[in-house]
Amino acid sequence: MSEEKKPAPAAAGRGAAKKELSEHFKTYKDVWVFIEMERGKVHTVSWELLGEGRKLADKLGVQLAAVILGPPGNDLKQAISDAWSYGADLAYVVSEPLLKDYRNEPYSKALTDLVNTHKPEILLLGASTLGRDLAGSVATTLKTGLTADCTELAIDDDRCLAATRPTFGGTLLCTIFTLNFRPQMATIRPRVMAMPERRDAKPGRVIEFKLSMVEDDIVTKILDFVPDTSTEEAHLAYADIVVAGGLGMGNPGNFRLITDLAAVLGAEYGGSRPTIQKGWISADRQIGQTGKTIRPKLYIAAGISGAIQHRVGVEGADMILAINTDANAPIFEFAHYGLVGDATRILPALTKAFEARLA
Ligand code: FAD
Repeated sequence: MSEEKKPAPAAAGRGAAKKELSEHFKTYKDVWVFIEMERGKVHTVSWELLGEGRKLADKLGVQLAAVILGPPGNDLKQAISDAWSYGADLAYVVSEPLLKDYRNEPYSKALTDLVNTHKPEILLLGASTLGRDLAGSVATTLKTGLTADCTELAIDDDRCLAATRPTFGGTLLCTIFTLNFRPQMATIRPRVMAMPERRDAKPGRVIEFKLSMVEDDIVTKILDFVPDTSTEEAHLAYADIVVAGGLGMGNPGNFRLITDLAAVLGAEYGGSRPTIQKGWISADRQIGQTGKTIRPKLYIAAGISGAIQHRVGVEGADMILAINTDANAPIFEFAHYGLVGDATRILPALTKAFEARLA
């Protein structure tokens, strides 16, 4: 992590080295958010991070920049225009046909060259598949610190990024600082940060940047794009209503009661980690620290105790309804509504009631 590698201390000692370092850091400013665009569509996590980046930039008194890489065209123009609506002051744009499909080499090259040229103090990326791949290679190339999967970001009294994330199996939260290197990099999972309101905004400044790479420099070739249609994909992170079951459902057959209620409500369904480990539902439906973070308008949790690793993935929900036989279950400490009772009896009654109401 970031603190292992120290710069060589100046001959005059540690005090002088610290001063030298702080002078060096003054050349880095602004908060950057990488806008993840794949096949013409911006990942919503990018707008969530612009919302968070806005708060950090305001605290530091610096500008918020969107970094947009992609092929020339209307999608790129739309992404730039949306960036103003979600709070960016300026945009660094690399418009280049080679960036049509995500490949690590040209994207890493574009982003590291941009950072080395324009020197942001903070760089945020979504902890999506693409974002994780890119953040790792960019941080390694820049030899700076990267805190992955953050749940909270803040600025401390020394203007450093305080990046908080779970550790020790989610039993503790640790706050990590990148004290000796710049930029300070962090990835944040989708839905961890709230979506900012769109606002009417004047266009900001666009700084165009050229990718210094040609196709022959890139080892990876995209021959075709084949979407995976073999499995039904869960869209838990952005669902308005989620119904989930835990070990308290008793057996995989009873999980049908969860999917029945979800179907009536037009909801997505998911489960706690043990239900995935037991093979009751697929891994992409796990909710919690090592699964998906969700922020639905309504979350119904049946037979789930509410362990901390589950809680961190659901506490952004607007309303949580918990069903549990144990009135002292931890989930009742953060649920808005609670039903103490047997989920295998309550769920069918709820499904029936909603069916009648929504018919
Ligand atoms: P239990 O804790 O066994 O709870 C079952 C609940 O059902 C109990 O409260 C019981 O009172 C209730 N119950 C029993 N019968 C009924 C009934 N008939 N009707 C209603 N209620 C009933 N967990 C996650 O969920 N997501 C994660 O991402 C995650 N990541 C983890 C990462 C690490 C590193 C570790 C160590 C753990 C992680 N866990 C995660 C596991 C977590 O610690 C808990 O073990 C897990 O959430 C418990 O699942 P559960 O609530 O379904 O089961």
